[in-house]
Amino acid sequence: MIIFKTRQSLHQYLEFCRSNQRTIGFVPTMGALHQGHLELIKTAAARCQVVVCSIFINPTQFNDPADFQKYPKTIEADIRLLEASNTTVLFLPEVEELYPSGTSELEHYDLGYLETVLEGSFRPGHFQGVAQVMRRLLQAVNADFLFMGQKDYQQCMVVNRLLQLTNSHTALLTCPTVREADGLAMSSRNKRLNAQERQNATAISRSLTYLRQHLKPGKLDSLKAEAQRQLLAHGFKVDYVEFANSDTLELINEWNGTMPLVALIAAFQNEVRLIDNMLMHAEKAI
Ligand code: AMP
Repeated sequence: MIIFKTRQSLHQYLEFCRSNQRTIGFVPTMGALHQGHLELIKTAAARCQVVVCSIFINPTQFNDPADFQKYPKTIEADIRLLEASNTTVLFLPEVEELYPSGTSELEHYDLGYLETVLEGSFRPGHFQGVAQVMRRLLQAVNADFLFMGQKDYQQCMVVNRLLQLTNSHTALLTCPTVREADGLAMSSRNKRLNAQERQNATAISRSLTYLRQHLKPGKLDSLKAEAQRQLLAHGFKVDYVEFANSDTLELINEWNGTMPLVALIAAFQNEVRLIDNMLMHAEKAI
């Protein structure tokens, strides 16, 4: 695995790969790597000859400064995991490399409705930050395929919109959420949970499964209220429990029995905010 810290050196190497007709797959991360990230890399390697992974904790997507400060950092362990995976290149830029003019007064993207609901409304500015860093990373890597996790459902939709807005040739492939044996969606933020919080955290995936098992056409309020109750009983402070059209993310309060739905949850276990989602029909395959 080769490690590049500058856009220029990365670009030069990838141009060489491209001139040899090698397909480039890209897996952007914020590090503190886990099996969810490694599955993205495995999927990328099955499809592409060159796999680029980036580790960059993007300051512009954190609406909460404490969350940014406390974001887990395990770079030595990350590099060891990547060395043992099929990663060809690790891109490891400093903040100044991606934001040479600083991180204030950056460009704005028209993300439309997606920025007004769920994560968009609970984390103001978050998706602008995601779009700003993804634009820079995508320009640096210029990948054929981009691999991202369904775990961050709305983020995948935002990135798809960014790809359209910027007329990018990169194709986004969304990969299924990787879970712990007890159902908890893997996340770098899980490293911040203490033993009790970690145990409580399984209530999120159990509530999503409950929603999937009990979903019926008609009003969805009482079903959502029951899921909220389950989360509260496990010490969660709930930001939202919602059903949405899985293609558009339009919130749905009454189901016609045919519209494809995704259920989404965001909730705090003390200081740690966790998100998860589940398709109410078959899981999406890439
Ligand atoms: P992060 O490092 O949390 O920004 O995540 C980097 C990429 O890994 C994003 O595309 C995430 O959606 C994806 N990812 C994170 N957790 C999981 C998971 N449990 N299963 C699948 N993909 C994941």
